[in-house]
Amino acid sequence: MNLAKIFEKKERCKRSIISRWAQRQAEVKVTRSVAARDKLAEQFRNLYLAAADRIVTKDAKALQRAVEKAWGQRIDPRQAFDLWLDSFYLSMGKHARDILLPVSVAYAEGVFAEVSSEIGLDMAFGDAIMAHLDAYLETFAARYVSSSRGQIITLLKDIPPEDIAQALTDRANGWLDTRATKIADDEVIRLGNAVALETYVQGGVRRKRWKTQPGACPFCRAIEKRPPIAIRDTFAGKGDEIEGQDKGAAVFMGVTGPKLHPPLHRGCKCSVVAVIGA
Ligand SMILES: [Zn+2]
Repeated sequence: MNLAKIFEKKERCKRSIISRWAQRQAEVKVTRSVAARDKLAEQFRNLYLAAADRIVTKDAKALQRAVEKAWGQRIDPRQAFDLWLDSFYLSMGKHARDILLPVSVAYAEGVFAEVSSEIGLDMAFGDAIMAHLDAYLETFAARYVSSSRGQIITLLKDIPPEDIAQALTDRANGWLDTRATKIADDEVIRLGNAVALETYVQGGVRRKRWKTQPGACPFCRAIEKRPPIAIRDTFAGKGDEIEGQDKGAAVFMGVTGPKLHPPLHRGCKCSVVAVIGA
């Protein structure tokens, strides 16, 4: 082996050590960033819960009042109730959006700052993230309203007329009991990951992967094991079936919509993370 070849080999070796070191550094940064983002999510969860509680209370109380009014007058309660149903949810979406806006902006700013420092992006929280936040709030409001209306319409169809008033009142009480918690749990993970992903895109990150928390479900663990994907790709699409392993047995989960980032399901606490380098 001549000197030039020895030198070349040494350089290759040095490059590979540097690249391994860079990868390890990147990994340390990602772990730190995910821990910081988890902490932010935990802090904002209570603010989200307070906002979600205001949304659900407004909705549930309005439903209770509409039932009392319609069935209290006894002349064609269904007609009175249907009129309320048609008009109330036209404006409920805007209320939901307005209530969630301040906490969402504050949370998005926090996530953006954390992820920017992770990837060394020197940029102000700008229009791109705001546009994204706007789209997120629109989707949230639409999803919220469609869930409320959908549940009411199903009850109206399925329950005998004499039991409808009670069923609607029970449903309103059910919302007051549990719905705000579900919204806070879901939305903190959804918005945190949406903003992290958009910040990665702004920073020119090209690939991403799924990161679970200890105790994650078999389906999230299955996605985590997959190789990184392009930053704009979906981890799973509508109609996909994810195969996971649970205590040695195969388990399956159907996916109902495109998943660009977590959550995959209710109660999911996973994160999207950047894959930098080779
Ligand atoms: Zn998960």
